[in-house]
Amino acid sequence: MAKVRRVPQRQCVACRQMRPKRELVRVVRTPAGEVRVDPTGKVSGRGAYVCPAADCAEVALRAGRLEHALASPISDETALALRELAARTAAARAVETQNPRRPRHAGV
Ligand SMILES: [Zn+2]
Repeated sequence: MAKVRRVPQRQCVACRQMRPKRELVRVVRTPAGEVRVDPTGKVSGRGAYVCPAADCAEVALRAGRLEHALASPISDETALALRELAARTAAARAVETQNPRRPRHAGV
């Protein structure tokens, strides 16, 4: 059996599922107090994670989960950006699943 690599796991603020960090959409509150979507995952600040799924984005926004996680209000602009990114990522992932291109000996 192949050895399972430990990947950093984060919890989606909406469905509470643990998933590898890079599969999630990160929303960050920067040290300046600005809340925005962080597609790179590299922006410094307090981060919260949401599944790349429209459902989770909605719950995160509407139930105030994201606000709570970041202890900061979410602007309409950020909410829209998150919805769009979640929808786009979900669509891209659906295509990937249909055409798997994962190299067998990837060192990652
Ligand atoms: Zn989720």
